[in-house]
Amino acid sequence: MRVLVTGGAGFLGSHLCEALLNSGNTVVCVDDLSTGQARNVEKFQTNPLFTFINMDVSAELTLNGPLDAIAHLASPASPPDYHRLPLETLAVGSRGTENALRLAREKGARFVLASTSEIYGDPAVHPQTEEYWGNVNSIGPRSVYDEAKRFAEAISTAYARSCGVNVGIVRIFNTFGPRMRPGDGRVVSSFITQALNGSPLTIYGDGTQTRSFCYVDDLIRGIIAMILSDEPGPINLGNPAEHTMLELAQMVLEITGSTSVIEFHQLPVDDPTRRQPDITRASTLLGWLPQVPTSVGLDLTVSFFKSQPLEVRAAAKTVAGAQFEGAAARIRSGNALAKTA
Ligand code: NAD
Ligand code: UDP
Repeated sequence: MRVLVTGGAGFLGSHLCEALLNSGNTVVCVDDLSTGQARNVEKFQTNPLFTFINMDVSAELTLNGPLDAIAHLASPASPPDYHRLPLETLAVGSRGTENALRLAREKGARFVLASTSEIYGDPAVHPQTEEYWGNVNSIGPRSVYDEAKRFAEAISTAYARSCGVNVGIVRIFNTFGPRMRPGDGRVVSSFITQALNGSPLTIYGDGTQTRSFCYVDDLIRGIIAMILSDEPGPINLGNPAEHTMLELAQMVLEITGSTSVIEFHQLPVDDPTRRQPDITRASTLLGWLPQVPTSVGLDLTVSFFKSQPLEVRAAAKTVAGAQFEGAAARIRSGNALAKTA
């Protein structure tokens, strides 16, 4: 297959490029490096099956030659990134997605949209099934991302219905692993960076909110299964193992052997309280199940972060609760977990 991966120099995109190359596919990676990193794809540059194009897909997206599939991953994904890039996030979810759909139509290519569990907002249904329509604030601080993705799902479905494009939508739940940026502000990268630097782990709120974390290798198998199928979706891809942020902090402290304390900061506005995917569709339609337990994935991610000491040190300030500067730490205690868990 010849596959175009938009956002291919990002965390997930680079793993997708690598997996596709490893199974003998030709890969064209388009990325504007706004939140991705050239070094994520550096080692593929010597592979004749790989091409990198530095391009903003919201402005244009053209490509010579045939194309079997497009995996549309381009979009800021970390909350601090989309807070910093609100207009760009809306543009890539709307114009960028339409540009990619037009190209899929022109080439007769399968189109897979990387959508998100944010479609469900702060969910009133638990665990989240694909039938649930969600609970999203259209003007809140997360809306630039959530509504961009909801629009992306809508326009993808419209191109399938009215133009016959072979569209597949995957709703990705929190995914983590090597090649996350230590300073990207997401919870897994932040806790590991903080633990390795011996700085306080910043929990937002009381830490009882939950997320379900999927290891990147599992997620990429799911995306490739979706590319190879003709399923329209939406299909949830995520690991149903649900953890509170307090449990996550505890796991990171144990794995790193860090003596960092826990600091509690103000909970961001509209922060979802619970997240757990129902993956019945993924297992029955794609034969997909996650295999890597959260603790094993964290171990692998910590090893990766340890191999990047300069980046981890440099990120110390970025992740020290900086996303919500001014929010005073309410509790700072070495045994905070024991007190509140
Ligand atoms: P990331 O920020 O590491 O990767 C996104 C990539 O898209 C970056 O390389 C960035 O430079 C590129 N990009 C952004 N705007 C662009 C544009 N206009 N033109 C070209 N390239 C552009 O994030 P990620 O975690 O790898 O996420 C990838 C995709 O998966 C995103 O669409 C995200 O919404 C989705 N997703 C990720 C998660 C997760 O937990 N990682 C969860 C749900 C959905
Ligand atoms: N979070 C936290 N400390 C941090 C970063 C995030 O407690 O340093 C919380 C955040 O408020 C949310 C959860 O961890 O409840 C997951 O946040 P992340 O940004 O990783 O992803 P998302 O909110 O998009 O699921």
